[in-house]
Amino acid sequence: MPDIGQPAASSDRLLGAGTEDVRRRNLSALLRHVHVRGPSSRSELTVATGLNRSTIATLVAELMARGLVRERLPDPRGAPGRPSPLVEVRHDGVAVLATEIFADSLAAAVVGLGGRVLAHRRVDRTRAWRSPEATVAELAGVARALIEDGPPERRIVGVGVTVAGLVRLADGFVAIAPPLGWRDVALASLVRSALPIDAPVHVGNDADLAALAEHTRGAGAGQDDFLLLWGEVGVGGGIVANGRAVLGRTGYAGEVGHLPVDPEGAVCPCGSRGCWETRVGEDALLRLAGLSDRPDARQAVDEVLAGAAAGDARALAAVSEVGRWLGIGLAGLVNVLAPGRVALAGVLARLYPHVREVVARELDRRVMAAPRADIEIVAAELGAEGPLLGAAELAWSPILDDPTTVPVLVTGREGRSWRRSRAMEEVMPGRPR
Ligand SMILES: [Zn+2]
Repeated sequence: MPDIGQPAASSDRLLGAGTEDVRRRNLSALLRHVHVRGPSSRSELTVATGLNRSTIATLVAELMARGLVRERLPDPRGAPGRPSPLVEVRHDGVAVLATEIFADSLAAAVVGLGGRVLAHRRVDRTRAWRSPEATVAELAGVARALIEDGPPERRIVGVGVTVAGLVRLADGFVAIAPPLGWRDVALASLVRSALPIDAPVHVGNDADLAALAEHTRGAGAGQDDFLLLWGEVGVGGGIVANGRAVLGRTGYAGEVGHLPVDPEGAVCPCGSRGCWETRVGEDALLRLAGLSDRPDARQAVDEVLAGAAAGDARALAAVSEVGRWLGIGLAGLVNVLAPGRVALAGVLARLYPHVREVVARELDRRVMAAPRADIEIVAAELGAEGPLLGAAELAWSPILDDPTTVPVLVTGREGRSWRRSRAMEEVMPGRPR
């Protein structure tokens, strides 16, 4: 998942692998490098991939033919001498559609290579139960407007969906999505049939995708052991260990919000009792502050935090109690995972500045000394857009793994067009490796 992909390979290092496989793998390494790191000179690409200059030139030419990258001369104010051209991603050819289904909002974005957001639309809605069909129809309306407003030559090559629920990797099936009140929803197929796009649809859990986005180009960049905690109505975790996403056998891992922390505690929407999110989620904060009945939960949370900052006793007590439980749960996670960095997103990021000391006290008491010394707690850099940007990375993943699935650009009488290749038909929905 969120790494630079497999290393490039020369044929002598991959005995037994076909030259086609080697070429595909090298194209993948090159495209991933410029997608994640940005414009790179051919010599930087040579160093990064270990391939020689002539191989790099051939591979760059192929990625250019597929409309994925281009070369440009660098800014002339640089070093004297003949400037080396930079290889960079193109934003005018292929793009992916990223979508988000939350209890409070629906969003869609058209995202180019390099994570460039080309168009974006978010629609807030009141928190109420809606059927998966009605929700997807509304989402398709948001997405259709974005696609129709875009240039006609743009081609959407993948769709990513982020949802607050347990997602089966293989087919984008949502087993349960407590904030939405959904169970057993074939979400990938619903979205595929609702959109006017012939492209594979990939579905991922919101916290996993926020972690993917943060690990690719945010608070987790360069961190091989990284934990993201995403808190809204519930609390989800995105775990990166040894540079790889920890998703479990079927994809259901990372449900840190349902760690049992209090056997006799409150009933959780998951059906259990005393889960961590009943102590640290938005609902817990509002309940403690006496604001449970507010329909505008996000605004109510802001009021509690403002109240705490202004010294209001009830708000302070609520914030401090949630902070104490944040520290308790986090201590358990740090003892298990020993991440170097923990990024907080959503309501937890807004809460943390008010409870820094309370959390530190719990960590000091409960985390063993060695991992305690390592840990760094930061705010997620991509904020509320993390899951949506992660959905874009998820949709890009099969293209980054095998750039030859994007057909070669041909120029015909009607200008540029995409020649459909058989490989394109073979892109199957699924999750990145
Ligand atoms: Zn639970």
